[in-house]
Amino acid sequence: MMTKIINLFIKPSPPALAIRDHIVNYLVPQGFRISPVYLDHADYNLVIGGDGTFLHAVHKSQFSTIPFCGINTGTLGFFQESDLDSLDKNLKKLVEGDYHMDELLLVEAEVETSSWTYRRWCVNEFSVQSPKRKTVHFSLSVDQVPLLHLAGDGLIVSTPSGSTAYNLSAGGAILYQTLKGYQITPLNQLRSKTYEALPSSIVLPSSAETEVSFPPDEKDKALLVTDGVEEHFLGLKKITFRQTGKKIHRILFNSNWYWYNLKDKLI
Ligand code: NAD
Repeated sequence: MMTKIINLFIKPSPPALAIRDHIVNYLVPQGFRISPVYLDHADYNLVIGGDGTFLHAVHKSQFSTIPFCGINTGTLGFFQESDLDSLDKNLKKLVEGDYHMDELLLVEAEVETSSWTYRRWCVNEFSVQSPKRKTVHFSLSVDQVPLLHLAGDGLIVSTPSGSTAYNLSAGGAILYQTLKGYQITPLNQLRSKTYEALPSSIVLPSSAETEVSFPPDEKDKALLVTDGVEEHFLGLKKITFRQTGKKIHRILFNSNWYWYNLKDKLI
């Protein structure tokens, strides 16, 4: 029997730890080895926790190409298919290799400052926001076509799988998780004759490049939030968002899970 290796990412909460013990008891006798430290030759990344734990695992593993398999102990669980009810059935399917894999495309942000250019990737979304609850002013271009100057709380650039998170709260649309492309959704735009405004969020194809640029006097007045983690870039000039094909793989045991999940948790 070939040993299969599982990298374990876990939220250290009592329900998650109890599930870990259950999984170890089930999988180890079936020839699996569970590693609490990340091994790059492992077969699976197993994440026990909520969506936040999943996001953290993907970033911590530096967007590992090893397939992720999620067990939800949180309330929502848009990345984590298995829950307590389906756990044993899905563990059996994992052992038998009875699953399929989907691909979740990430969005890249190229952050240009007066001294350096940085790259970041998100699973859910980037948001451009004011650090001090001030109005953020910026220009928006797509594929080098200047569209408009915006002012308000900022902008969300969301992946399809992140569309049910912050993007949805800000009035964006729900996109099927494995669609190619991304969405931009303004955050509380100022509405007056002085300012231009986007009439709704926009869904862009994968090939589109979206540029957010800041006037010189605004350059230290915006920060970038990546999947809930804030970064303040000094001398920020512009941020270009795009999809480059960078992705993560996720194991699914039920191909219609997405629709059941939407029905159970959102609709
Ligand atoms: P968290 O764990 O408190 O997550 C916030 C909530 O967002 C949780 O209920 C989580 O289940 C849910 N969530 C996360 N990803 C989701 C997805 N793809 N689809 C549906 N729901 C999802 O906070 P965190 O761990 O720091 O997570 C960061 C995420 O929180 C961000 O990526 C952002 O999407 C979300 N967020 C939402 C709002 C808002 O809706 N107003 C504000 C800030 C952050």
